[in-house]
Amino acid sequence: MPAAPAASSPSRGYLHCPTCRSTNVIPSGFSCRTLLGALGEVRIDHHGVHLDPSVPPCEGGADIAIEYRCLDGHRFRVRLRTTYATTSAFTQTLPCPERGQSGRR
Ligand SMILES: [Zn+2]
Repeated sequence: MPAAPAASSPSRGYLHCPTCRSTNVIPSGFSCRTLLGALGEVRIDHHGVHLDPSVPPCEGGADIAIEYRCLDGHRFRVRLRTTYATTSAFTQTLPCPERGQSGRR
């Protein structure tokens, strides 16, 4: 029986807030637009599960994002975007919600 291929070593590190550099960040939402994106964007956050069919599809790929909030309220997302056969990862800073708002997007 052939030996199973060795798993690659995970890369490890702390996320930090791109605004204040704090490592005290927590995940607060998830969104996904899949290949062809025919159904729009699926989003999961503290309000529940949502489907927004008005979000346009990704061109030739998929898009997955995890949103984070630091303890000072700064928001950002780490986005993985696949276009054809390659995937890029990047961080986007998000606007902070006004005090008293729900924080949805
Ligand atoms: Zn911050």
